[in-house]
Amino acid sequence: MKEISGNNIIYEFKPEMESKKRVSPGEIVKFDANDAFNNQIHSEEKTLNEVDFSKLNPATGPIFIDGAEEGDILKVKILDITVSKKGVIVTAPEAGVLGDMVKESKTKIIEIEDGFCKFEGVKIPVKPMIGVIGVATEKEPYSTGTPWKHGGNMDTKDICEGSTLYLPVKQEGALLALGDCHAVMGDGEVCVASCEINSEVTVKIDVIKNGDIEWPVVETQDEIMIITSGENADEALRESTEQAVKSLSKGLDISLADAYLLASLCVDLRISQIVDPKKTARAAIPKTILNSKTFIKRC
Ligand code: CA
Repeated sequence: MKEISGNNIIYEFKPEMESKKRVSPGEIVKFDANDAFNNQIHSEEKTLNEVDFSKLNPATGPIFIDGAEEGDILKVKILDITVSKKGVIVTAPEAGVLGDMVKESKTKIIEIEDGFCKFEGVKIPVKPMIGVIGVATEKEPYSTGTPWKHGGNMDTKDICEGSTLYLPVKQEGALLALGDCHAVMGDGEVCVASCEINSEVTVKIDVIKNGDIEWPVVETQDEIMIITSGENADEALRESTEQAVKSLSKGLDISLADAYLLASLCVDLRISQIVDPKKTARAAIPKTILNSKTFIKRC
């Protein structure tokens, strides 16, 4: 197994990125992932307004994967996410969905104990996920705080232990980086943050040759989800729907009209997050309808 320390960080996914480590397909890599604030908040006295915003959302990497070329798919199987003992959640005036109602900034330190996040007498089972994960982009640079076709700040809770993430490769070596883990998160991430926490993320990396996908796709035990982003939730949801319908049409070799009807019968649209610079949704297709091999090969 190879390891990459949290000293190797980027704040931008772009076409040209200097790799910090080189691995072969099939290798297992452990990433030391910093929290979304890059460890700037250690007490409840420190608010979001006092944080250096240029150091938000550090992603550890990037890693060059031998043999990955434009038009391939990077397959990232998430084997393990081990969170540290303490996380932090914040909000502030104008932040998140109800920012207009927030009168003052608030920071809460969340202790993790025996697999639970402890919050004001409530115990929430830990379900760690990766907020930021992506590869080098095709043309434009994107801050690690923004989600798009290369991945980035998708804040999708299904990018978790046991899932497999597929990312479209646009540059030689793919150049994978990740960070911004959450101990747990609800769909939407409504207050602008979640349980932001330092973590160790272990993944197995593979390359699928000539299997073009347009957006990131995450596969869980029962579903395949196309993760799309847009300027607002409506745009993100429309794109998710279009991608799901086209995938069903191609994968099952049925007309677009039939695929549209089928999607209405069995596809779930879900919000990932509506608080980042672009908003993210996902369309979940049951694997009983379209299996992942068909999906990746045909779509
Ligand atoms: Ca995030």
